[in-house]
Amino acid sequence: MRIFLLILTISFLSPGQAQPRQLLVPGGVAIIGLGAGDTSGYRFMDKPVLVTEIDGKTSALIGLPLSLKPGEHSIEKRNVEQVNRKFFEVKYKEYSTQHITITDKRKVNPYASDMDRILAEKKRKQKARTHYSTGAVDVNFILPVKGIRTGSYGRRRFFNKQPRRPHSGMDIAADTGTPVRSPSAGKIIELGDFFFSGNLVYIDHGQGLISMFAHLSAIDVKLSERIEKGQVIGKVGATGRVTGPHLHWSLGLNGNWIDPALFLEIEN
Ligand SMILES: [Zn+2]
Repeated sequence: MRIFLLILTISFLSPGQAQPRQLLVPGGVAIIGLGAGDTSGYRFMDKPVLVTEIDGKTSALIGLPLSLKPGEHSIEKRNVEQVNRKFFEVKYKEYSTQHITITDKRKVNPYASDMDRILAEKKRKQKARTHYSTGAVDVNFILPVKGIRTGSYGRRRFFNKQPRRPHSGMDIAADTGTPVRSPSAGKIIELGDFFFSGNLVYIDHGQGLISMFAHLSAIDVKLSERIEKGQVIGKVGATGRVTGPHLHWSLGLNGNWIDPALFLEIEN
């Protein structure tokens, strides 16, 4: 039964540019058209939302946290006299469960001496995930690496039978050394060798849209470097908490990790 489920959830990624798609579920994206003259100042959960052209219409792109309760939600803009709200309805989504065996037990149950490092890295990661910069954003992403999608966003995970946080990104299996390309233009805001993520790179694409790539065998960019869409930022590897070489890609929008598949030409 488990083999059958695995086959169902593997999908081949197709290259080429895509436009983001709306999926109104926890971990999804809301796309709300904005009227002329009413395109700035909207916030979701007190974070500024990304505004860009989608199908020729100025729209707000809102990242929905995996922990969001289904039901009615809104973006809002507060003026001195009034509050403007735009509502959308979030539906329930059932995410699957995955059991993973990690041979390096220290990566599942770290030593007490690892905790200072883990906590310091957690702070750096949180800062990078919630980073915000203004300016135009190219939301028409390309695929960062060609390979087989092996782990879906949102899966509830057990490492060596112990529950851990749900999967916050997309896994793409590829050989160690395969070049990883930036899905869009941006700036490198964090990088290094981290306990769980191995060699990682954070890219700020602008307006709260952030890519994080983990488990790299090599990092080919420098901190604060500006990069083009398609530029090689590193190479696929098996560093950190992994079962084998693959690229882990997390995509943040207004501070929330969302399903990167919504920015690619693939089925969820
Ligand atoms: Zn992953």
